[in-house]
Amino acid sequence: MISTSLAIDSKLPWVGTTIFTVMSKLAADCGAINLSQGFPDFQAEPALFEAVTRAMNDGRNQYPPMAGLPELRQAIAGKVESLHGARYDADHEITVTAGATQALFTAIAAFVRGGDEVIVFAPFYDSYVPAVETVGGRAVYARLRFPDYRPDWDEVRALITPRTRMIIVNSPNNPAGSLLTADDLDALAELTRDTDIVVLADEVYEHIVFDGRRHLSVAAHPLLSTRSIVVSSFGKTYHITGWKIGYVLGAADLMAEFRKVHQFNVFTVNTPCQIGIADYMRDPARYLGLAAFYQHKRDFFREQLRGTKFELLPCHGTYFQLARYDAVSDLPDRDFAVWLTREIGVAVIPVSVFHHDGRDDRVVRFCFAKQESTLAAAGERLRRL
Ligand code: GLN
Repeated sequence: MISTSLAIDSKLPWVGTTIFTVMSKLAADCGAINLSQGFPDFQAEPALFEAVTRAMNDGRNQYPPMAGLPELRQAIAGKVESLHGARYDADHEITVTAGATQALFTAIAAFVRGGDEVIVFAPFYDSYVPAVETVGGRAVYARLRFPDYRPDWDEVRALITPRTRMIIVNSPNNPAGSLLTADDLDALAELTRDTDIVVLADEVYEHIVFDGRRHLSVAAHPLLSTRSIVVSSFGKTYHITGWKIGYVLGAADLMAEFRKVHQFNVFTVNTPCQIGIADYMRDPARYLGLAAFYQHKRDFFREQLRGTKFELLPCHGTYFQLARYDAVSDLPDRDFAVWLTREIGVAVIPVSVFHHDGRDDRVVRFCFAKQESTLAAAGERLRRL
């Protein structure tokens, strides 16, 4: 160990190790079934690996263009147009990123200045607030109302000040599994009309929406598309979270600012994976089939928990199922998550970690992006409670 004598004035004094790392490690240490961190325990299709391997063997191993490989940006433009009818220019309005986390951080760094306010909805994905605070911004919190996790636009209206630089929305929502509706998008457009507020739309679960509902992208909204940076992740769509590759969409002027930071933040993203994904994306069934694929898993997992004392909340999208456990235990959710991992052998995420004030509704999050055998084994353990 090397120790330092420097006095460190931390930019993020309240931040520890992310809950995903903590719970996955605890699951591994205890030999528990890991339904905590969100990642599939099954393989992507061989065709994807073959396309990447081919690119490597063909010598495509040097820096690609800063904004991303043209064939991948074209493939993204084609997908977005066919799904949302929105035309993003592949040269100026699409950038390939090293996953959604980098995209979110870069967007925040590009637009938020010291003292600016950024509205986030709690519960929120854990990378937003540290990114805002690292660049000297201040998070201002709106709430998705428990238990249906709907936004309250009157509350948001009251939070907007001349310092509001950005509003971050996430639909389908991690952890809530809720979706923004057409009325929500209209309300957001109305609230931001005549302002210079940037909307940062985290849409990484864009293809994972259930029961015939549709994902409504801000990219398809005539007003919101002009002020939004839209973030997506191939990790979620193609079962490759470890590859860390995603993309952003945004109007050319916004994208120019994004790229100023992106080029010095990562410069660019590994070439063979970009080529492989561009090739693999040619078949739209590979993302269009995702909703049915995960709906089946959601229903299978919910069935596993039938008859238990867990109360399952609605899950309209994402690969996360929330459950109230107050009929099972009086423990606070963090303690309950640790107890469930250690004693029952199923690791989960406590939802209070997605709240700035530690609000605890006695709810935990299960990830059902797993093989049926994994979900069945977890179900067997949970039914003993
Ligand atoms: N997004 C994943 C989740 O919500 C985890 C990502 C991470 O580990 N940083 O579980």
